[in-house]
Amino acid sequence: MKASRELNRLSTLALRQRRQGLAKLLPPIEETLRGSLVKRYLTCGNPGCKCARGQRHGPVWYLSVTLGPGRTTGGIVAAEQLAQVRGWIGNFYKVKEDLEKISAINRELLRRARQQARKR
Ligand SMILES: [Zn+2]
Repeated sequence: MKASRELNRLSTLALRQRRQGLAKLLPPIEETLRGSLVKRYLTCGNPGCKCARGQRHGPVWYLSVTLGPGRTTGGIVAAEQLAQVRGWIGNFYKVKEDLEKISAINRELLRRARQQARKR
């Protein structure tokens, strides 16, 4: 991987500092939410309504969450919750990304420690 090759070139001190920086700047864990927002247009079931002729109601925002293969859950997100939900989803993926970066640094640190031990 390109990222791990880049980590190769950094000093152990720089790796530790980068790891510390990533950990410090993690978004608040309490404000994370996994899922994605999807826009839905709905029909109300009234045969006389314009939605029965194709002009559906909406958009309504819906939080879609995959629980496992073929299993999803979610719910409607109120307009006034939209900004918060977007922020929480963004935080979730930022935390995930940063944990991956920390893991890559830790793999590199483990590799170096093993090399050091072999030299002795
Ligand atoms: Zn309708």
